[in-house]
Amino acid sequence: MRRWNGWGEAAITYPLPETAAQYLETRIGAGLRLEDASLERVLANIPPVRLSPHPCLSTDPEDRLRHARGQSLPDWIALRSGRVGVFPDGVAYPACDEDVRALLDYARRTGTRLIPYGGGTSVVGHINPLPGGAPVLTLDLSRLNRLLELDETSRLATFEAGITGPEIEKQLNARGYTLGHYPQSFEYSTLGGWIAARSSGQQSYYYGRIENLFAGGHVETPLGALDLPPHPASAAGPDLCQMVLGSEGRLGIITRATVRVRPLPEEESFQAFFFHDWESGAAAVREIAQAGLKLSMLRLSNALETTTTLALSGKGKLVEWANRGLSFLRYAEGRCLLIAGFTAEKRGKAAREQFAAAREVIRAHGGLWTGTPIGKMWKKSRFLTPYLRNTLWERGYALDTLETAVTWANVMPTAEETQKVIREGLAEIGERVLVFAHLSHMYKDGAGIYVTYLYRRAAYPSASLRASPDETLRRWQALKGAASRVIVAHGGTISHQHGVGLDHAPYLAAEKGKLGMQMLESVRRSLDPEGLLNPGKLLS
Ligand SMILES: Cc1cc2nc3c(=O)[nH]c(=O)nc-3n(C[C@H](O)[C@H](O)[C@H](O)COP(=O)(O)OP(=O)(O)OC[C@H]3O[C@@H](n4cnc5c(N)ncnc54)[C@H](O)[C@@H]3O)c2cc1C
Repeated sequence: MRRWNGWGEAAITYPLPETAAQYLETRIGAGLRLEDASLERVLANIPPVRLSPHPCLSTDPEDRLRHARGQSLPDWIALRSGRVGVFPDGVAYPACDEDVRALLDYARRTGTRLIPYGGGTSVVGHINPLPGGAPVLTLDLSRLNRLLELDETSRLATFEAGITGPEIEKQLNARGYTLGHYPQSFEYSTLGGWIAARSSGQQSYYYGRIENLFAGGHVETPLGALDLPPHPASAAGPDLCQMVLGSEGRLGIITRATVRVRPLPEEESFQAFFFHDWESGAAAVREIAQAGLKLSMLRLSNALETTTTLALSGKGKLVEWANRGLSFLRYAEGRCLLIAGFTAEKRGKAAREQFAAAREVIRAHGGLWTGTPIGKMWKKSRFLTPYLRNTLWERGYALDTLETAVTWANVMPTAEETQKVIREGLAEIGERVLVFAHLSHMYKDGAGIYVTYLYRRAAYPSASLRASPDETLRRWQALKGAASRVIVAHGGTISHQHGVGLDHAPYLAAEKGKLGMQMLESVRRSLDPEGLLNPGKLLS
């Protein structure tokens, strides 16, 4: 069963090796093992239901709790402390367009607010109900989970939008195809959620971001149905698919989506390289991206991320041995790990040439090829790493990530300054923050920067070791606020892949401008004049 107050299946744990715990203790101090609220305690405090009766609604308290929050750090703090605040009044599980239309009609008649819910993996507060007088109904789309059509001639597949990553791949792989969209939340996130939050998969360098994969679909809005036929390309005015992408549940409920699929690759590997420093690694990946070499992933860690990843891997002896070898080869303290994905539809000379050309660029920038062992380890744990967050929390550490994309000229200053303000963000209260980064997605004109940071959870200043969620949250607000301001000041987007939701909404106007915000607001009003859908997210 899925955890109600953390990541993933309750039966899966990600133990923290003692050496890794010592590493964290040295960096930021010993974490405090603080008690969390129990499920029973949270359920005992759930407020009464405000919805008018309807045969399709569940008002079961646990159902309401499990749909109350996503996966952001503020969500974790609320769930783990039992201070959830606002709950949806009920959850509905529509199974077809007619069900969705009936629920929209119910919402209109009763003034109920609707929150579309895919996998609930949002990390920016997308699916959280907000305080207010109106009842809130969450629409869990998990029953919309079928493959409806695979057009092999056009390489287009149409799915219902509540389908999760593993189900998509299972159904396509059985027919020899793949979508190739692998966000780290793959296990639970859904096609509709990817579209609504403009998601980017780890191998989007090859397969494309969701906006490249999304060809068309069907959206139920409060004012009627919107059909988006798939066109290979079109000059017929602005693209309505682009309006739906990133709409975060404000314009309508995506019930079906047609996506561009590919045959399963004949060849795929993840190779690891080390650079002497981050700058030379960044120069190499920029050159590869600008030359258009066909890799599937380029993930370049900075020095501290490289050290931390290896320290937390639990492969103590192997890491020690590798570190010794790298130092001997003069890849010293500042060494940086690049994991490069090589994916090819057809095995053969053309694929080998791409690989060889990329290796040549890397070599020219001082990169050292170490083959596939690290890449294999990365692939094996690519969807398991989020489980580490549960263990870290229980050990007394809060972990969060943030991300942006900037043009190449701005990559280094943005990455450095963002980390600096986070690193120093709690200095005034005498707390240290461990912060590191990687370049996650490469483009010809810029790159995505992904920053991870850890700090100690707070306790009340007494001997009782009682968790202080307010102080843990205040620390997060200080760090997130400082980093977001740096991103905006450097002309970065407030989100490359996580979306806007609640947490990024204050920074959106800086990016879109006043007129841009008016345009978005008027599109929203034109489809949802009564403001029924997911109020407060993306737009106020
Ligand atoms: C551990 C972890 C790793 C992550 N890694 C990545 C990553 O690598 N790349 C990435 O892009 N993101 C990542 N995310 C963020 C998150 O997974 C994405 O934003 C994802 O797209 C959300 O999908 P979901 O189905 O869970 O949507 P939800 O969280 O349920 O909803 C997100 C938003 O979409 C709306 N929505 C959902 N379904 C529909 C629908 N059918 N119609 C209309 N609106 C809808 C909701 O109302 C909400 O506003 C990660 C999150 C976690 C917790």
